[in-house]
Amino acid sequence: MLRFSSSVSRLILKQYPVRLIHARSRNRCYPDEEDDGDKARKREVNKDGYFQLYKSKGQHLLTNQRILDSIVRKSDIKPTDTVLEIGPGTGNLTLKLLEAANSVVAFEIDKRMVEVLHKRVAERGVDDRLTVVCEDALKAEFPEFDLVVANIPYGISSPLVAKLVYGERRFRSATLLLQKEFARRLLAKPGDSEFNRLAVNVSLVADVEFVMDVSKREFVPCPKVDSSVVIIRPKAEVPDVNLDEWCAFTKACFGKKNKTLGATFKQKKKVVELLALSKLTELNAETEYYIGSNHVDDEEKSDEEEECSSACSEMGGASSFKEKLMGVLKSADFENKRPSKLSNDELLHLLALLNQAGIYFRDRSKNTSVVIESFE
Ligand code: SAH
Repeated sequence: MLRFSSSVSRLILKQYPVRLIHARSRNRCYPDEEDDGDKARKREVNKDGYFQLYKSKGQHLLTNQRILDSIVRKSDIKPTDTVLEIGPGTGNLTLKLLEAANSVVAFEIDKRMVEVLHKRVAERGVDDRLTVVCEDALKAEFPEFDLVVANIPYGISSPLVAKLVYGERRFRSATLLLQKEFARRLLAKPGDSEFNRLAVNVSLVADVEFVMDVSKREFVPCPKVDSSVVIIRPKAEVPDVNLDEWCAFTKACFGKKNKTLGATFKQKKKVVELLALSKLTELNAETEYYIGSNHVDDEEKSDEEEECSSACSEMGGASSFKEKLMGVLKSADFENKRPSKLSNDELLHLLALLNQAGIYFRDRSKNTSVVIESFE
């Protein structure tokens, strides 16, 4: 275990009565709880008055006051605003947010952080304007808020951005401190080497602005990666497309983003999969129609579904379906194009053509929604 005695570390320690140490990486997947060994170590550490930080929870605290100030300034917070903060940690950013906003709602997974945060905020006499929810931000339901400002745990960047931009809560902007490489992928344009499904899905519904890079040296403990601040602003108007269908479509296209669409959709596995999904979608549409006209009951519906899956497993119609698929790609000159070079307008156009031809991507048998999915 390492003890941090840098000047930055001392600066935080002066602010509240805990000492920070950092747990070694144990190659565990986020967001697993500590193992028993961890718990024992933590008890030991607590007895001695240390505060242990976990890499597995993305616990890297931003301590540079100038950078914290400029994040708040760039966020353009109004005195009437409610700010949502994800992963407040010991509250370095939270205290600044409380100076600018009417209130802050913060989601923090670590109880020890919550305690320190409450203590610091109470010392300043601003605790009545802070609500801390000790829950996993990915699983929690967010209350209403005006904007997001957060130095988030980097391990949850992709699902968190998906949850925010495709979620039901409307908000003005999200100022996020992210791992630099992730920020670059978020900002990438068609043709850039970093351009992938993340940028495609986010740019459909939001604009992303680069604000500044932040060196890893500004964090305690110092992480391996540099960071960047970006602001995500939801668009006032988004294209008229089913978002679940769109996300399933981009997933199919960007599996191998540099492969031509012709090569991607020619694969037997893909053809059979799309045939099954398309049949299910067709069937649902018919069933909805019949239910609307009181023509079909549940038993008949499940019989029909069984028929469909056995037909698909026999690969019935697979070759004509493949021809249809290739025909659509050729008709609009998409066969030799690579998704990594296509604009959202081109991708939307292709999806509309495919849907018109009865080719669908979304798995309607699963009730999952994009908001809990990751984009990468
Ligand atoms: N914003 C603070 C701390 C950043 S460290 C600062 O800049 O100093 C990231 C914080 O996110 C940690 O406190 C960690 O415990 C918390 N965290 C990790 N996973 C989380 C999750 N799924 N939901 C909410 N908080 C989480």
